[in-house]
Amino acid sequence: MEEKLRKDELARTVKFTPPLYKQRYQFIKQLVIKHKPKKVADLGCADCRLLWMLKFCNCIEILVGLDISEDVMKEKMHTLCPLPGDFLQPSERPLTIILHQGSVAEKDPCMLGFDMVTCVELIEHLEAEELEKFPEVVFGFMSPAMIVISTPNSEFNRLLPTATLFRHPDHKFEWNRAQFQNWALDVAAHYGYTVEFTGLGTPPSEEGDVGFCTQIGVFVRKYLKNGEPETVEKYKEHVYKTIFKAVYPSLKDEKYLQTAVVNEVLWTSQTIARRLLGNRKSKYKKRCDGVETDPPFLTSCFLRLTEYPSLTEAENSQIEPFINGQTVHVPLAKIFSVPKVKQLCGTFETLRKLITGKVALSNDGSALLVDTEYENEEQGN
Ligand code: SAH
Repeated sequence: MEEKLRKDELARTVKFTPPLYKQRYQFIKQLVIKHKPKKVADLGCADCRLLWMLKFCNCIEILVGLDISEDVMKEKMHTLCPLPGDFLQPSERPLTIILHQGSVAEKDPCMLGFDMVTCVELIEHLEAEELEKFPEVVFGFMSPAMIVISTPNSEFNRLLPTATLFRHPDHKFEWNRAQFQNWALDVAAHYGYTVEFTGLGTPPSEEGDVGFCTQIGVFVRKYLKNGEPETVEKYKEHVYKTIFKAVYPSLKDEKYLQTAVVNEVLWTSQTIARRLLGNRKSKYKKRCDGVETDPPFLTSCFLRLTEYPSLTEAENSQIEPFINGQTVHVPLAKIFSVPKVKQLCGTFETLRKLITGKVALSNDGSALLVDTEYENEEQGN
């Protein structure tokens, strides 16, 4: 009875803000920001919440989730799909998100080549024989540069309001600090990793040294990997089932790059054309001896003159945009000088290649042609 009262009392005081699960995800996110892994796998990803947070980390190009339960992954996997905004403004980085159904006790070649593997509150859900195979699969076979493992610290349990032996009915065990650290040090030594221990959720100061509520081991591979280990040959066969794959639109994909460049080029050339027409219009007004009449737009012989009548079209097009009849010629060189276009294309040749066939170009291909007929109608209205 007394013990129950004490626990109830503590339950009121031992509250983590933000909640501990969020702190765990935040901890991983900080590690990602610091180490910038490109390929990250979350083992025991459950409802994909950590994956969803990580998809916003710009360094990550491949994000993979693995869980034994297909149903739990399916609950929120739609949150991993690209949004309309991702298509409207594709990112520079490529991003592919994949979910596999399978066990961490089995080797599948799709888990090779990762920079970081996270196992957040996973190991305590493993049956004894799965836990036995886990180090060989994750450290030996997957062998990523960094592995993060978090698990409950059983020494903290007396401060929690749980009536049951473990914090969760599916937990197969909960380790104290010595048990976790001995296991982790053994595994690290065996597979050539260093390990550092930390945790999240500090106890109230009067409770003494019980350690963090969540204990964490951050493992770093000691050696660079030289090529694929021989064992990979044996594990060519895929045992996991892929249940989700989303390839995000990216400017690394020529299809999206072309759309972005064409949009940018059309926008730029139309802006230039409008500015030019605006200038012409005000010049025309001045010329009409103070009589405020709108020009009959491009049909007037004044406006039919080109900007640089003494130059050939080729010479002219190297320099500035000019008006010819109903058409504004915007030199590609001018368009390429716009920082956004230059950044997207890199080279002038790429610009030419990406827009050819998608926009109207002059005969010699040196300028983009903007038809001003529509502008004319707008002005008339
Ligand atoms: N990492 C998540 C979920 C932890 S619960 C979080 O922090 O919230 C543990 C998850 O591991 C569950 O979703 C469970 O289905 C999964 N799991 C249990 N045994 C597994 C195994 N052998 N292989 C892969 N996933 C497993």
